[in-house]
Amino acid sequence: MSTHPQGPGNPAFGEPDEDLPLMCSQCGTDRNLALHSIETLNPPLEDLVKVGYSCSACGMHYLHRADVATVASVLNRDGSLTNVLAFGGHYIHCGQPMEKTGSELRRLSAPVSTDKDQEETFDVYMSTRVLHCRCGFQVELPE
Ligand SMILES: [Zn+2]
Ligand SMILES: [Zn+2]
Repeated sequence: MSTHPQGPGNPAFGEPDEDLPLMCSQCGTDRNLALHSIETLNPPLEDLVKVGYSCSACGMHYLHRADVATVASVLNRDGSLTNVLAFGGHYIHCGQPMEKTGSELRRLSAPVSTDKDQEETFDVYMSTRVLHCRCGFQVELPE
């Protein structure tokens, strides 16, 4: 009598673990995608997240694993933060939520222009938060 060991460690019972590009396979474009969710994987994997989105052109829904940089390129198409996912108040880099490591108080001096004879300046304090990724990447954002 022979039995094949089949435990919870069997990789065949996992989720599909392909890293797919974000694209509507129906329309063949990534231009109409609306992102709904970004989750870290369990267990977390470097540079990979689970992303859920739909295509607003045909209504297809997708949920799969994807590379952070790929998601960032769709999500931050017009943004300046490369490889950072900003979603629902969370910032993700390297597939991990970035940690807040501190906050800064920035002083901006703005001239008060109500009276031309008075050259007063007026200090504006703006608080920012500093987010840090374990890879060393950090970003400072307005609070
Ligand atoms: Zn579509
Ligand atoms: Zn990172």
